[in-house]
Amino acid sequence: MEKVLEVNDLHVSFKTYGGEVKAVRGVNFNLYKGETLAIVGESGCGKSVTSQSIMRLIPNPPGRITNGSILFKGKDLTKLKETQMRSIRGADISMIFQDPMTALNPTITIGEQLVEGILQHKSISRQEGKKVALEMLDLVGIPNPQERFKHHPHQFSGGMRQRIVIAMALVCKPEVLIADEPTTALDVTIQAQILDLFKDIQKKTGVSIILITHDLGVVAQVADRIAVMYAGKIVEAGSRREIFYQPQHPYTKGLLNSVPRLDLVGAELVPIGGTPPDLFSPPAGCPFTARCSYAMEVCDRAYPFKTHLSQDHHVDCWLQDERAMNRLTSVK
Ligand code: SF4
Ligand code: MG
Repeated sequence: MEKVLEVNDLHVSFKTYGGEVKAVRGVNFNLYKGETLAIVGESGCGKSVTSQSIMRLIPNPPGRITNGSILFKGKDLTKLKETQMRSIRGADISMIFQDPMTALNPTITIGEQLVEGILQHKSISRQEGKKVALEMLDLVGIPNPQERFKHHPHQFSGGMRQRIVIAMALVCKPEVLIADEPTTALDVTIQAQILDLFKDIQKKTGVSIILITHDLGVVAQVADRIAVMYAGKIVEAGSRREIFYQPQHPYTKGLLNSVPRLDLVGAELVPIGGTPPDLFSPPAGCPFTARCSYAMEVCDRAYPFKTHLSQDHHVDCWLQDERAMNRLTSVK
């Protein structure tokens, strides 16, 4: 499989009056061509900060990538100048945010906005730009693109507006599309349509998608692989099947137990008790210790090593680590 993006040991911190918040603490993952990788976790786990780092949209100050690399086409994005980054952002790597309204200018027709987006990155004529814009509107399922081209954002429903935002993100045919909670602001039936649209676009264009969400329902519908984030780290990752049917990290299991599942109708939903640790001074051991009903003495003392369970599936938990179990028994 062709690797499109490679994130290595990413660390991101924010300086605040209270001290330095270590929002992302050593994140590693690859993104392959044509796949959807979902990054899942509770709010504040570092998933949005990770995606903003890829786009180099971390406001500095107060934020800073303090370590690691983000490789895209042989270039380390963390090392590029802002001018170089500007030619990649929106053209090679595009991003869609939660609220479609913030991405659209209410005073300009959607056609104009699309054409502007194209002309920013491509030296083609306005006429050619319009042609591409119409193709994109058609691709994202806006009926009657010729007519709708002249309309302003408020003339569209929420779902249609999100389709237009997706068209905007796709106008330059990016290789990577990052979608941060793209359906959270939409009602459930529209959500499902937008997720179908992602799959459809991916089939037609081969774009690789990073989907950031707190909602495992969304993930079940579209993700090929899932990375579960907790307290600034990826604590488990695997194929969709592995995460849904063979989850190993107690936090992943907790997340799965706290969402309604179509295949487990009637099962009781159990929210995860407690709150994530404060990232001003993250614990030396496993950050889930305080909430984990399997926590052992070693968990408090040291962060678990990564255990590989299959090619895609890995987990950071002492329960999976034979060395820890041996150590544990020898301690006793
Ligand atoms: Fe629970 Fe320990 Fe595993 Fe952390 S390392 S998830 S505390 S068992
Ligand atoms: Mg977020």
